[in-house]
Amino acid sequence: MIAQVIINTTAKKLNTTFDYNIPENLQDFISIGTKVMVHFGRKKDLEEGFVVGIKEKSEYEVKDIAKLEENLKQEQIEFAKWMAKRYFCNVADCIKLMQTPGTTSKNKIQDKIINAVYLKKDIEEIEYDIEIKKIKSEKQQKILQFVKENEGATIPEIEMFTDCSRATVNTLIKNGYLETVEKKVARNPITNKEILKTQKLKLNVEQQNAYNKIEQAINEKHYEQFLIYGITGSGKTEIYLQLIEKVVKQNKSAIMLVPEISLTPQMIERFIARFGKEEIAVLHSKLSVGERHDEWERIKENKAKIIIGARSAIFAPIKDLGIILIDEEHDNSYKSESNPRYDAKEVANYIAKQKQIPVVLGSATPDVITYYKATETDEIKILELTKRANQSQLPKVEIVDLKQELINGNHSMLSRELYAEIEKNLKEHHQTILFLNRRGYSTFIMCRECGYTVKCKNCNVSMTYHGYENRLKCHYCGQESPIVTVCPECGSRKIRYFGTGTQKLEQEIKKQFPKSTTIRMDTDTVTKKNSHEQILNKFKNENIDILIGTQMVVKGHHFPNVTLVGVIAADSSLNIDDYRATEKTFQILTQVAGRAGRENLPGKVIIQTYNPQDFSIKTAQKQNYKKFYETEITLRKQLKYPPFCDIIVMRFEGKNENQIKALAIETYDNLRKMLENCKDLTLLKPMPAPIDKIQNRYRWRIIIKGNMTNDTNEILNNLLKQIYKEGKKDIRVSVDVNPNSMI
Ligand code: ADP
Ligand code: ZN
Ligand code: ZN
Repeated sequence: MIAQVIINTTAKKLNTTFDYNIPENLQDFISIGTKVMVHFGRKKDLEEGFVVGIKEKSEYEVKDIAKLEENLKQEQIEFAKWMAKRYFCNVADCIKLMQTPGTTSKNKIQDKIINAVYLKKDIEEIEYDIEIKKIKSEKQQKILQFVKENEGATIPEIEMFTDCSRATVNTLIKNGYLETVEKKVARNPITNKEILKTQKLKLNVEQQNAYNKIEQAINEKHYEQFLIYGITGSGKTEIYLQLIEKVVKQNKSAIMLVPEISLTPQMIERFIARFGKEEIAVLHSKLSVGERHDEWERIKENKAKIIIGARSAIFAPIKDLGIILIDEEHDNSYKSESNPRYDAKEVANYIAKQKQIPVVLGSATPDVITYYKATETDEIKILELTKRANQSQLPKVEIVDLKQELINGNHSMLSRELYAEIEKNLKEHHQTILFLNRRGYSTFIMCRECGYTVKCKNCNVSMTYHGYENRLKCHYCGQESPIVTVCPECGSRKIRYFGTGTQKLEQEIKKQFPKSTTIRMDTDTVTKKNSHEQILNKFKNENIDILIGTQMVVKGHHFPNVTLVGVIAADSSLNIDDYRATEKTFQILTQVAGRAGRENLPGKVIIQTYNPQDFSIKTAQKQNYKKFYETEITLRKQLKYPPFCDIIVMRFEGKNENQIKALAIETYDNLRKMLENCKDLTLLKPMPAPIDKIQNRYRWRIIIKGNMTNDTNEILNNLLKQIYKEGKKDIRVSVDVNPNSMI
């Protein structure tokens, strides 16, 4: 018998299988999904591979499979094959997502093992031996007494508590009084804090209605997709909790996906408070490999039935899945922007269809595509919550026209309104959050004489000035350089800093309100594990007056004392070359607004903008999602953007500019011929990407607008295979469907 094996390397031989003979002694153990070790090429070490097919004969002369590793299920192989095709990537890369972290065959995370010490003889027998002085040593007696009272203690613990040495313990082991048993302990990333249990709340009418519809799908064991559309605080999470409870009662598991940034201890504690620690596993990118490995094992062994995690938790090795819940479903972190470029929402639907279970999406500002499917097709069933569950008030939102401020001679970053409100808030000892979409100090540096701008030498983008470090940084590759005081082009000293970032804002606040305390949160201050959390806790616990931050400050945190939120410039996200720019602006503004006044204190939001008439800003002011949606969907229909078609981006990257350009043009010509029969597709000419060089790699792209059908998928996959077969070194070609970023 011959096994068709996919080699687990990142080599670009897209999804090629290699034949290997299955030796007789392995025949009973090898099936589709088996992980095997094989000799590959001229390499000395064995390579890891996966059996993806089995056949009678091979037309080649083939080697034997060298040895066996762990098994994947056939359904997982099918799943990986589907993903590889859908997301234009290697099967092996998809399989990796489904495997226990920290287990490549060359490198295995060790289980954390402790040697637990137990009594080996009956306690009566031991006491008898002490009596007859067979055990004379006082130290030995002390140890035996301690182990009797603390079975399962470790040797270091025994040493510590009895003040005896390891040697004495070993003597007792040798003489058959004690034994050690290896025990696996789970490294558990969940806090050790005592958490009070909560009981389920009585659902209000809208919540109950939503719950019932989903419960019905669970009971009838069928696939169905739901959207719970309800403003923040309308009680979506309470519904999730009760659905999970229902599923766990049936002895099944639940996946709860949340955006990476919302995966805070407070959020997890809410689940622990309802279900206890034992049954919950948490998966996110800040865990150590060891922690991730152990969480994965707990899920595999069916000890943890409630899996809370970011995007990749969708691949957790769950035995009997009952429901998938995706909170803040509009968040773009669900779409992977690196290989494999999968969309966790789409993957969730694939899994749910296989297992015939419901998928529940939740959001206050649904993705326009989701809302379209939920209201204008029957792909998704909509369940609406219209009231805040705990009766708190929505904040007042005011829009300030920055153009008018300029006309009135105010060149500062703060409008007069915002200044007055901050001042008032400081007096009343309430907290303020200021939101700005750019980090750093100034976004670009230009020579006033000749127009020279300082650019990164690896990327075709402006360097950003960071005031605290007094250095220039590239936000795309991290390259740093000293500041420029003399223009390298013309020698002029008229170097000016333009644009604004979080650092500059903080400095300006300090200048205008010298007595205020501030804290800044952006990717420059958030680096180490948990640091994001530390900043927010500090802001909350030390009652710091003003939190200044980027995007990071807008997501699901709860600050009871925050009564003012200021958006410094709502326009920065409007100007990106992206069909989703207005949608992103709306989402960010509504979320920012939701940060103010969530408990007893009424809140106020001030949005500063140069485009006060823009519909995404106006609808965000009124927190009117439906109005926003109506305008946006009409525009997308007119301009032919998703959901009315897919945007397929084909990217070409490489060190040699001419080579990249030539390849893009050649591919375009091929595509034109291949897609001749697909009349509804629009193929746009190859162009340099908006940022045409990153990290010394030149970037070109081809955009295809149209529906991603099976035929188109097949054509593109074949084309990629062909490009890689020609094996041009150092070239990366990728295909991404509806990417988050068009850059
Ligand atoms: P969302 O997830 O939509 O933001 P939550 O589920 O967090 O909303 O609910 C907001 C607040 O309302 C929470 O403090 C929650 O405990 C409370 N809450 C939710 N449902 C109910 C209910 N049926 N009765 C009373 N309070 C509720
Ligand atoms: Zn100059
Ligand atoms: Zn750079």
